[in-house]
Amino acid sequence: MEALEQKILSEGTVLDGGILKVGSFLNQQLDVDFLIKMGEEVKRIYEGERITKILTIEASGIAVAVAVASVMHKNVVFAKKNKTSNLSGELFSAKVHSFTHGTDYTVTVPKDYLSKDDRVLIIDDFLANGNALNGLIDIVNQAGAKVVGCTCAVEKGFQGGGDELRKAGYRVESLAVIEKMSAECIEFRR
Ligand code: 5GP
Repeated sequence: MEALEQKILSEGTVLDGGILKVGSFLNQQLDVDFLIKMGEEVKRIYEGERITKILTIEASGIAVAVAVASVMHKNVVFAKKNKTSNLSGELFSAKVHSFTHGTDYTVTVPKDYLSKDDRVLIIDDFLANGNALNGLIDIVNQAGAKVVGCTCAVEKGFQGGGDELRKAGYRVESLAVIEKMSAECIEFRR
C-alpha cells in the first residue's frame, strides 16, 4: 500500500534491535482516518472471500483490527496476554514468544468467541518472526475454524516469519513489506 509506505518513510524511526517505531499513527497515537484507509485496502484484498470474524492480539493489533472490522462489518476478537499459563478449560490458549520483550507469554481467547464454523481473518500491526501469528493460527485451529488469511500493517520481510507462513500454505497479505532497514534508509519489497 503506497500511502502506508510513504507514511512509514516520513514518520517511522528505526531503533536498535531491528525495531521500527511508528508511534505517530499506529502504536501510540492513532491516525484513525488512515487506519480506516488501511481497513478499506484489506477489504479490497479479501474481496470475494467469506470472512465471519477478525482475530487479533492485544494491545497494538486492536486498532488495525477494529479499522478492518468497521469496514467489513464483522466482529473483532482479541487474544489476551496472560502472565500465567494456569488457565481454565473455557479458553483456547497458545504460547507466544515476544519479539519486542524477549519473553514468552500465553495468549487466550474464550471458547465462546470462536467456533468451527468461523472463517477467520487474522490481523496484527507488525509481522516479524511470525510468533504472534503462529499463536493466533494455533488458536483458530483449536477452535476447528478456518484461517482465511493473515494481514499485518507492516511486515519486516527480512525476519522471514511471513515467508515461512506462505510456505506453510497460508495466505499472508501485508500492507507494506520492508526488505531492508537501517537508521538511514528503509527499502520495501517490490
Ligand atoms: P513476531 O511475533 O512476528 O516476531 O512479532 C510481531 C509482534 O511483535 C507484533 O505483535 C508487534 O507488536 C511486535 N513487533 C515486532 N516487530 C516490531 C517492530 O519493529 N515495531 C513494533 N512497533 N512492534 C513490533
